[in-house]
Order: sequence, then C-alpha cells, then structure tokens
Amino acid sequence: MGRITLEKVRKAFGDVEVIPPLDLTIEDGEFVVFVGPSGCGKSTLLRIIAGLEDVSSGHIEIDGTDATTLPPAKRSLAMVFQSYALYPHMTVRKNIAFPLRMAGFSKAEQDKKVEAAASVLNLTAYLDRRPGQLSGGQRQRVAIGRSIVREPAAFLFDEPLSNLDAALRVGMRLEISELHKRLATTMVYVTHDQVEAMTMADKIVVLQAGRIEQVGSPLELYKAPRNKFVAGFIGSPR
Ligand code: ADP
Ligand code: MG
Repeated sequence: MGRITLEKVRKAFGDVEVIPPLDLTIEDGEFVVFVGPSGCGKSTLLRIIAGLEDVSSGHIEIDGTDATTLPPAKRSLAMVFQSYALYPHMTVRKNIAFPLRMAGFSKAEQDKKVEAAASVLNLTAYLDRRPGQLSGGQRQRVAIGRSIVREPAAFLFDEPLSNLDAALRVGMRLEISELHKRLATTMVYVTHDQVEAMTMADKIVVLQAGRIEQVGSPLELYKAPRNKFVAGFIGSPR
C-alpha cells in the first residue's frame, strides 16, 4: 500500500541545487523520520513526495505506480501541517467529515467513518464541540482525523508539534507513535529534533545540505554513525 520510492530525485530552485540526485525507499508501514538542521531540505523533500513541489529530475513511485507527475490530490497521501487549519465555525464532527462531504460520501458513510476516526483518536466525547473549545493537542488530533477518514496510503508530517509547548509535545509524540501502531500506515515525519527522531522512528534519514548522510534504525545510527556529522547530530561519542 504505502511503499514510496525515490529514484535519482533532484531539486533545484533556479540555479541553486537544494537536493542533489537522491535515492530512497520507504517501506509499507514504516515510520520514517527525516532529520537534519534547518535549511537542509527536509520540507522540500516531503513536499516533493506530496506533489506540492515538482522534481527537477528523477522519479517517484507510490504503491507501485509512477507518481512523478501526479497532482497532490491523486497521490493518496495525507499531509499534516503544523498549523491546524480547522474551520472555527464547524463542529469537530463537521471538520473531520469535510473531505468526505467534498468527495460525495453519503451522510451515513460520513458518520461511520468520522466515528471510527474519532474513536481511534479518543475524540468521541468532543465531536459536537468547536475548535475554539479544544486544547492545542486536541485540535492537532482533529486535523489528523481529517486525514484519517480519507484512508491515505501514507501520512506526511512536517514538524507538526513545533507550535506546541514542551509538555504537550511529549504527549503528542506518544500519541502519534500510538496511532502509527494502530493504523499500521506508512508515516514520513520531518523534524529538526534529534530526540523526536530517536524515539519515534523505525528508520531515520539524516540529511545535510540536501544529501542523505545515513539511513538506519535509531540503534544503528547510535551505535555506528557513518561520520562525525551523524555522530554529532544523533549524540553518540565517536
Ligand atoms: P528545511 O525544511 O530542512 O528547513 P527546506 O526544505 O525548507 O529546509 O529548504 C531547503 C533549502 O531550499 C533552503 O536553502 C531554502 O532556502 C531553499 N528553498 C526552499 N523553498 C524554496 C523556494 N520556494 N524557492 C527558493 N528556495 C527555496
Ligand atoms: Mg522545514
């Protein structure tokens, strides 16, 4: 379902090459974290996968089909942004149902899918509230709920917790990891936070200046960093 393959994917803005040709495979069901310093190309790479940014050259395959030129809406991916972008005048139920209503699902189907998503996200008790009556973490969950109902092949997160305070961030980390276990859907998660990467990832992709420095499990990177940059970034002595 959610296997994503990048083949010689390259991106330049004008004359500036921000991502030299890069190969990467994300397996179905994997929780993959892109980590690296600010400006290293994490968001650009994620936006390329989402189709929000064209590649300058190379190919992207999603679920076995060439997606290189597919528009975002046809890629069966859900992008979760750091801003919640909920409709303030709509209830939680209507916010989550919104993409289903747009896609023409019947009222009964909408209700069924919304209730299933709310149950997974522990939002059942809040379905009739409006976003203004929710905490930051709950609003984030509603935003995720709106993605879940579309049953995407993969979720893409771009620093989704960076607007939250430290205590809430730790809780949301656990919630997203928990959600990954329950849904078993591919997740690609961008962060500049090493701790987030180490605690959430099945596989970490360490980026520097648009290049992949190393790919591996948190343990592999910790035990055998390939170079000083990875060692410094992941925090093990070398
Ligand atoms: P990160 O998410 O890791 O902080 P970005 O992917 O946002 O990094 O940016 C990578 C590089 O590409 C940066 O040097 C940034 O300035 C540049 N960049 C990103 N988007 C654009 C754009 N639309 N036009 C020109 N340069 C861009
Ligand atoms: Mg970014």
